[in-house]
Amino acid sequence: MENNKDLHNWLDDFKLTHPLVIAGPCSAETEEQVLRIAHELKDSDVSIYRAGIWKPRTRPGGFEGVGAIGLKWMQKAKAETGLLMATEVANAAHVKLALEHDIDVLWIGARTTVNPFAVQEIADALQNTDKIVLIKNPVNPDLSLWLGGVERLYNAGIKKLGVIHRGFSTYEKTKYRNIPEWQIAIELQNKFPDLPLIIDPSHITGNREMIFEVAQEALDLNYDGMIIETHFDPDNAWSDAAQQVTPAVLKQIFRDLKVRKQDDETDDYNNKMTKLRANIDVLDSNLLDLLGKRMKVADEIGKVKKDKNVAILQNTRWNEILGKMISEGEKKGLSEEFVLKMFKAIHQESINHQEKVVNSTIKN
Ligand code: PEP
Ligand code: MN
Repeated sequence: MENNKDLHNWLDDFKLTHPLVIAGPCSAETEEQVLRIAHELKDSDVSIYRAGIWKPRTRPGGFEGVGAIGLKWMQKAKAETGLLMATEVANAAHVKLALEHDIDVLWIGARTTVNPFAVQEIADALQNTDKIVLIKNPVNPDLSLWLGGVERLYNAGIKKLGVIHRGFSTYEKTKYRNIPEWQIAIELQNKFPDLPLIIDPSHITGNREMIFEVAQEALDLNYDGMIIETHFDPDNAWSDAAQQVTPAVLKQIFRDLKVRKQDDETDDYNNKMTKLRANIDVLDSNLLDLLGKRMKVADEIGKVKKDKNVAILQNTRWNEILGKMISEGEKKGLSEEFVLKMFKAIHQESINHQEKVVNSTIKN
């Protein structure tokens, strides 16, 4: 599969003057709930209504979705509001039922994208239909697996494709439910600039207070749209209660979000940017210069350690450096997360250099 302009056609056909919005509850719960939320979203920037009918739950015993009956409620919601309907499918039986109930948009969930057998089964069941199919990133940070999912659908003749960035699972405790790892989505965007890219701030954050900031970050990275879980009574939602917003809050988010231009042709902008970029280029080459010098010192350290037969890794020293750098970095406006990441990478390179010296057979 290669990038091509036509990948964007289905989205252009919406003729929107703002990013695409998919909204609705995490799960369909009752007929009244499905209809009420759809009506509250009807006259807004929302074009597609989402509701989970079959819910993949991490542990058994949680609410596993209302099943096929919910598709009837969605059909009714579509007839009453004109919104397009979207739901998650995880196997061929789901696809069959969704098609029978005239669902317009199908998404493949994060727990399904990890499994090529399941994705292939879905692709086969959808063969040559003209549905819009959105593929969520897999739970693990693996770009090939994500792209593989897209390719399986593309090869099945599905033309209206898009991807949803919903973040990645991690064992570490972070402020996110699923860490964004923006660089993975950006790499995908670089490979397929015309494949619509949609942010799912609900599942990334797991927390309604952070929905706006993650959606804004995505728009600043030229994402094409967003999918946001919305419920009239979020606290009492049957699934993902902490991350759902009310339709009123969602509409406020639309008002607050800034869609920035991709570029600006004015001389003033170009002059300012040329100067600033020249500045950055000089600083970047200084950075590389410094890192090169730092590694030369690491080589020297390697020689001394080899001489004295001392182990390369010394944890106490390393923890001291890290602590110091985090607090110095903070004073310079650098986040702890960034300083940690950067020094872990520098430290690894330093160890590689020392290893090379210590294990070399050439006498120093
Ligand atoms: C969902 O959208 O409700 C869902 C289950 O998402 P994910 O597959 O991203 O966990
Ligand atoms: Mn959910």
